Amino acid sequence: MKIIVLCEKCGNAAEIKSETVGKLAYVQNQFKNRFRIDKNDVQIETSTSLNLNEQFIDELSSTEDEEEVLEVLEGHMLDNIDFESELSSLRVDCQNCGDYIVFTEIH
Ligand SMILES: [Zn+2]
Repeated sequence: MKIIVLCEKCGNAAEIKSETVGKLAYVQNQFKNRFRIDKNDVQIETSTSLNLNEQFIDELSSTEDEEEVLEVLEGHMLDNIDFESELSSLRVDCQNCGDYIVFTEIH
């Protein structure tokens, strides 16, 4: 599989192909300064939600010092708090003429 990036404004183009057994495509290397993905233009939405269980609350409330609090948090935090992150947009800039495209609604 390959992805062809073509700037309709100036004709600048690049192909992104996988180069390894694992089908990894090294994007910046293959863009060869023709296009750019600015990491500051990558939008990632994150959300955190609590999913507290009683055992966690009991253990936390019976702690007596900061060290014990840390121990309880380290042991149970991932079970009690859900973290989600989602790539929401990605912008590719033409290095030749400055035109750009923003990928969104990625999934
Ligand atoms: Zn262009």
